[in-house]
Amino acid sequence: MHKGFSKSVELFKEAQKFIPGGVNSPVRAFKSVGLNPVFIKSGAGAKIYDEDGNEYIDYVGSWGPLILGHRHPHVAEALERCLRDVGTSFGAPTEMETKLASMVAEAVPSVEMLRLVSSGTEATMSALRLARGYTGRNKIVKFEGCYHGHADFLLIKAGSGALTLGIPTSPGVPAGSAANTIVTGFNDLANLEEVFKLEGEDIAAVIVEPVAGNMGVIPPAPGFLEGLRNLTARYGSVLIFDEVMTGFRVSYGGAQQLYGVTPDLTCLGKIIGGGLPVGAYGGKREIMECVAPAGAVYQAGTLSGNPLAVTAGIATLEILKQPGIYEELERKSASLEQGLREAALANGVEANLNRVGSMLCVFFTGSSVNDYAAACSSNTACFSAFFKSMLEQGVYLAPSQFEALFVSLAHGENEIEQTIKAAWNAFKSIK
Ligand code: PMP
Repeated sequence: MHKGFSKSVELFKEAQKFIPGGVNSPVRAFKSVGLNPVFIKSGAGAKIYDEDGNEYIDYVGSWGPLILGHRHPHVAEALERCLRDVGTSFGAPTEMETKLASMVAEAVPSVEMLRLVSSGTEATMSALRLARGYTGRNKIVKFEGCYHGHADFLLIKAGSGALTLGIPTSPGVPAGSAANTIVTGFNDLANLEEVFKLEGEDIAAVIVEPVAGNMGVIPPAPGFLEGLRNLTARYGSVLIFDEVMTGFRVSYGGAQQLYGVTPDLTCLGKIIGGGLPVGAYGGKREIMECVAPAGAVYQAGTLSGNPLAVTAGIATLEILKQPGIYEELERKSASLEQGLREAALANGVEANLNRVGSMLCVFFTGSSVNDYAAACSSNTACFSAFFKSMLEQGVYLAPSQFEALFVSLAHGENEIEQTIKAAWNAFKSIK
């Protein structure tokens, strides 16, 4: 029996006095599902516990990083050792940074060298500065519905027509910041070819989530990533895969390994920090050596390569690189997908599931979802009702239709079964 949310309601009221909207990142506020956010007290394995004493099976996993679940013993012990024997920060080089960098370089096909930063936003922002510095060009291309953090020139939506200047999506982003950002359709290679015909010589970089995970989950259409690779190579533009979400998630080597397409630069975050703040950008040596102090493109960070964060990252990758891990994640995720599909079908709910590895999304639409427009056709009222029912039954999903659900290694058969049962009730209630 769910114990209600009275303490969370109280805590949210208090939080709103001191923190804008009561949260430190907007989607946490549960606005798009019209509910009060749940205040979390602790987590262990696949479960989180709220301040009212409710227990949930967690499919948010801190929005992706916790692929091993909460407080995995190997990560927790490494962190304890680091606190006890090392320290929290020096702002000077440490051996462990090279260790994490070499582990990432070994895993991710495009990465010969990398720079550690403290968030995904920093990684994409810095990678794009580097691409511009390296090519001496200004324009960048991004895809509608892809999110790359909150740098000014990335908070841009598409204008209309094949090639228009981007429009800022947030007050405070000057039109000038939007002017060099071209926005085109995800999975629409034909339109991108037009863009390159018109502007190709001025395009410094194309940045893409190789599996889009910020408009629900949308896999790349066959040939899309290969097409990006060919076009950017032809025009001398830098191809950037934003693998902040997909890196070490869809395979140990990320989406680039899964799909066999190697970009010039890769952005990482989330999993490589094991639940602590880490981001990274890396790629070809020739490009990376343009970064200061090796080269002239400036980028820096007080807490970059932070010992605690790097320790959590190394410990996480040590587990992930063991044989059979991604097969296990795939098995668990496939059985969840199948159960959710059957539950929707049996209860007469029009739903379409997209899944790549342990990233999954239930869209409430009868048609398949391959791009931003299709994602937007999902019935968000149905999603909200589904979300609320799942929450009350002890399953914690991301509070928005346009987010991924993450399966972790900590999710066992019991949890998956319980989730499918809850979904059965949830689908029945919204029919
Ligand atoms: N890129 C992608 C693909 C992301 O999913 C995110 C965050 N969800 C970011 C960049 C930004 O990362 P951060 O929130 O760590 O700044």
